[in-house]
Amino acid sequence: MSEKEQCNHNCAGCAKNCEDRTAESLLKLPHPTSHIKKVIGIVSGKGGVGKSFVTSMLACAMNRKGYRTAVLDADITGPSIPKMFGIHEHAIGTEEGILPVVSKEGVKLISLNVLLESETTPVVWRGPVISGVVTQLWAEVLWRNVDYMFIDMPPGTGDVPLTVYQSIPLDGIIVVTSPQDLVSMIVAKAVNMASALNVPTLALVENMSYLECPDCKKRIEVFGSSKVEAAAKEFSIQTWTKIPIDPSVAAYCDAGKVEELRQNWLDPVIQVIE
Ligand code: ADP
Repeated sequence: MSEKEQCNHNCAGCAKNCEDRTAESLLKLPHPTSHIKKVIGIVSGKGGVGKSFVTSMLACAMNRKGYRTAVLDADITGPSIPKMFGIHEHAIGTEEGILPVVSKEGVKLISLNVLLESETTPVVWRGPVISGVVTQLWAEVLWRNVDYMFIDMPPGTGDVPLTVYQSIPLDGIIVVTSPQDLVSMIVAKAVNMASALNVPTLALVENMSYLECPDCKKRIEVFGSSKVEAAAKEFSIQTWTKIPIDPSVAAYCDAGKVEELRQNWLDPVIQVIE
């Protein structure tokens, strides 16, 4: 039989780079015992804008609503999810696969930091190795009975996020931005990359949008007036929201207590994904 006749058209299980291979078929299958209903990626044009914080807040909110929730920390070079949840233990490996760690309130988590010997070991890997690790976290972790998985995506629009988009079947993305990024081309690139890969952008979150005076409650727009509404309109994104600069965010995140932070900033986003 020729190679063509042997083809079962399941490119996910085949390493050949033949002419029939399609972008869609680069998708990796999760472990046979995994069951994940919805997968939502949290993306940003660059690092440090609060992507991990928004991922954690969304996961906590959905978990509190009674959904079985998971977080896959795909930000391999800057993994901050375990720290925000106060998790310092290691994931356990079984013969079948890796078990995610479970937070105090029951969110299942996986991150390179719960697999590495030491949390401070730097990741000095090239792009293809990093994206290979992300797909392993998707395919080799036992994600049993998950209603919502939130993926803290690698920042930017380079080869690592591209591979993640092509290997994991995302139902949609949520773009997190700083007010300054909205005036540059950074956010447009992130949104356009998702749409080129047929992944819908569900919401736009402007983090560090303003500062509220604790005494008089006046809002100070530190980086100038907000552009999130106009940007959402420009990119045809139905839902947008603003998160203020709030010292309690950094305090709860740094103390590993993100699950205890109660704020309604992300309610409009939760409504669209529910
Ligand atoms: P990213 O994942 O985009 O790199 P993080 O979510 O790790 O960014 O956030 C970077 C830092 O900024 C963290 O220490 C976090 O606690 C802090 N931070 C994020 N959003 C806010 C906010 N709205 N107010 C105050 N601190 C914030």
